[in-house]
Amino acid sequence: MFVDKAPITVIAGNGGNGAVAFHREKYISAGGPDGGDGGRGGDIILVADSNMSTLMDFRYKRKYVAGNGADGSGKKCSGKDGESLVLKVPRGTLVIDKETGKLIKDMADGEPFVVARGGNGGWGNSHFATPTRQAPRFAKPGLPGQRREIILELKLIADVGLVGFPNVGKSTLLSVVSKAHPKIANYHFTTLYPNLGVVYAAEGKSFVMADIPGIIEGASEGAGLGHDFLRHIERCRLIVHIVDVSGSEGRDPIEDFEKINEELSRYSPELASRPQIVAANKCDILQDKTLLDKLKSYAEAKGYRFFAISAAAHIGVHDLVMAIADELSRLPPVHVFAPDYVEPEAVPESIDDLTITVVDGNVYVIEGAWMERLLGSINFSDFESRMFFDRTLRNSGLFDRLENMGIQEGDTVSIYNLEFEYKK
Ligand code: GDP
Ligand code: MG
Repeated sequence: MFVDKAPITVIAGNGGNGAVAFHREKYISAGGPDGGDGGRGGDIILVADSNMSTLMDFRYKRKYVAGNGADGSGKKCSGKDGESLVLKVPRGTLVIDKETGKLIKDMADGEPFVVARGGNGGWGNSHFATPTRQAPRFAKPGLPGQRREIILELKLIADVGLVGFPNVGKSTLLSVVSKAHPKIANYHFTTLYPNLGVVYAAEGKSFVMADIPGIIEGASEGAGLGHDFLRHIERCRLIVHIVDVSGSEGRDPIEDFEKINEELSRYSPELASRPQIVAANKCDILQDKTLLDKLKSYAEAKGYRFFAISAAAHIGVHDLVMAIADELSRLPPVHVFAPDYVEPEAVPESIDDLTITVVDGNVYVIEGAWMERLLGSINFSDFESRMFFDRTLRNSGLFDRLENMGIQEGDTVSIYNLEFEYKK
């Protein structure tokens, strides 16, 4: 069965712990602290792969875990970073947050996307030496990697959507023009799902064509399963409208053509406004040539390009394919949905949980989860990161709290292993 939705769990690697170690060498006594930092946990990275066309793989494996960072060790040896895990997804896969249902990312371009970040490694004790604290006996633990529940959803990116009544020859045309049948063809799939094919028109000119079976009257009101099919061609750039002109089923081609177009615009005015090429099929068994001629003048009067073909007999198919490629080369690329999801900053919102203790009258010792998480996200050897730390402290309202407690300029603020002088 063709799968276009897959809930998975992604778990990035934990950061390694910082080490507590001291330099030891013959003849040198009281060497300094030299505990190295823990390695960073590996990320979970998504990459769009144009050769994949289903989410089948994600049906059997649901949980993806990246490598943990190794612990630091003596001699300032940093632990090895955890290995990142790269997951290939079909181009056009939407990444959705399971809890909120919001779109996180549209994998429409080739950019790799970090969906779960590895935890930072903890600092070894060598970072914590100060003139007054020459032998720090502590180091920082690594931070946990991000864990996320996501849903991968594949909206097929077809350049061209084939529409038309049942039995007009959509599947036949697709099988005739597409050389590479993607993976999907290996699975049994019902006509509930569109069939995809890659069509090579000429060197460097290939496109994806989707056969959208089962477009039926009433589909836009949710009747039957038409709605679902249509969802898959939301993004296509061009519509090829197939009409049976053979008269073999006693149908009126112009009426059919209009009915399908009405259906399309009821479902999505945007989709209905896409350029269309009209292909009159089954010309090989034409019983009444006037049916073909009538449709031709009707369509051309409305400005559509018109082709008389026989999919089964391979007549006129090449010209149609070239016209499609030509049309596509002038149309803008596939539409990319903008994410409506903004990643929250890794710092808890509230400083309410912080405890502030005054020691020796003028040392303000600050502790709490908010501060621990903030510290964990800061790289103090990096200027930008220190500025972020500063800004976050100022914006948090922490200094107001200190002021209310009576802190004076020149007093000491002690935050875990950081100490600084208070300045207004
Ligand atoms: P779909 O429902 O639109 O996908 O139509 P199919 O491709 O399944 O075709 C329906 C029937 O029409 C099949 O029996 C095909 O063999 C036949 N058919 C398709 N194209 C042609 C054609 O160009 N000429 C003739 N004579 N039969 C065709
Ligand atoms: Mg079909």
